[in-house]
Amino acid sequence: MTLRTALFATLAATTALPALADVNIYTTRQPELIQPVMDAFTAETGIAVNLAFVDGGIVERLLAEGSRSPADLVMTVDIANLKSIADADVLAPVSSETLDTAVPANLRDPEGLWFGLTTRARIIYASRDRVADGEVTTYEDLADDKWEGRICTRSGVHNYNLALMSAIIAHHGEEGAATWASEVRDNLARTPQGNDRAQVKAIWAGECDISLGNTYYMGKMVNNEEQIEWAGSVRIVFPTFENGGTHVNVSGIGLTQSAPNREEAVQLMEFLVSPTAQSIYAEENYEYPVLDGADVSELVGSWGSFTADETPLTDLAGHRADALRIMEEVNFDG
Ligand code: FE
Repeated sequence: MTLRTALFATLAATTALPALADVNIYTTRQPELIQPVMDAFTAETGIAVNLAFVDGGIVERLLAEGSRSPADLVMTVDIANLKSIADADVLAPVSSETLDTAVPANLRDPEGLWFGLTTRARIIYASRDRVADGEVTTYEDLADDKWEGRICTRSGVHNYNLALMSAIIAHHGEEGAATWASEVRDNLARTPQGNDRAQVKAIWAGECDISLGNTYYMGKMVNNEEQIEWAGSVRIVFPTFENGGTHVNVSGIGLTQSAPNREEAVQLMEFLVSPTAQSIYAEENYEYPVLDGADVSELVGSWGSFTADETPLTDLAGHRADALRIMEEVNFDG
């Protein structure tokens, strides 16, 4: 594309008639995961959706573009990312009964700056051969001596583990969390390394017996020729907190302050929490709908059901700095 046609395309996208305006989205998620649900929206409303993949740096980009930004919406994963975008003062509150009814209060910002659209649980992958049914049922169990040299995990300071640590703090306080973190560290089979799937590979290879990971990676592994063997060596255990449920995080969405097509953007947000859209979107990345009663894909359903922990994500965000400090103090990553 020449610079001129690129400019024209941008202008065309942002100066169309209001009634037919496109909705422009900055997303850190792979556009392929989002496209099917956007196509369903376009089919229903005639409103086109433009997806711009921004791999990190969404906040910097929105700040640099200021009021001239073409972005109406931002979509990303993890409370840490949603919180940092909200904290940058680039999002506008959305007050919508549809969104407030569909999205449980603990999975959205109290001021309406962001809304969870799908959830993923942080669960335990357990060796089918070396871990018995019922041998691990809680996150607290991971601190037990019986797991010495048997646990694998990615870095303790990765967002996924910091959110989990934040939940441990929410349930047990900072001191309890520090004890838990140091005991889990003592049970590690190896220095934290790799991503969530690398831990399942390590279980498959016999290096450890259980690992922490997000649920959707099971879906990714069983649909990958090389990784399907790793997936076959484990089963999913949904641990709970002793005084709570299973830890979940979200993918979410927020409206920008400068949204040129605000009305259509809010219409899209509301569409995304409808039963059909929830099922389409959740299925693409093997996640769970936030809408109560929306269908879960057959594959995801086959992993079993669980009760999500109800600690508000904003509470987890509030504990993040302490979670990071504790992980560093106990030298979790060695
Ligand atoms: Fe991930």
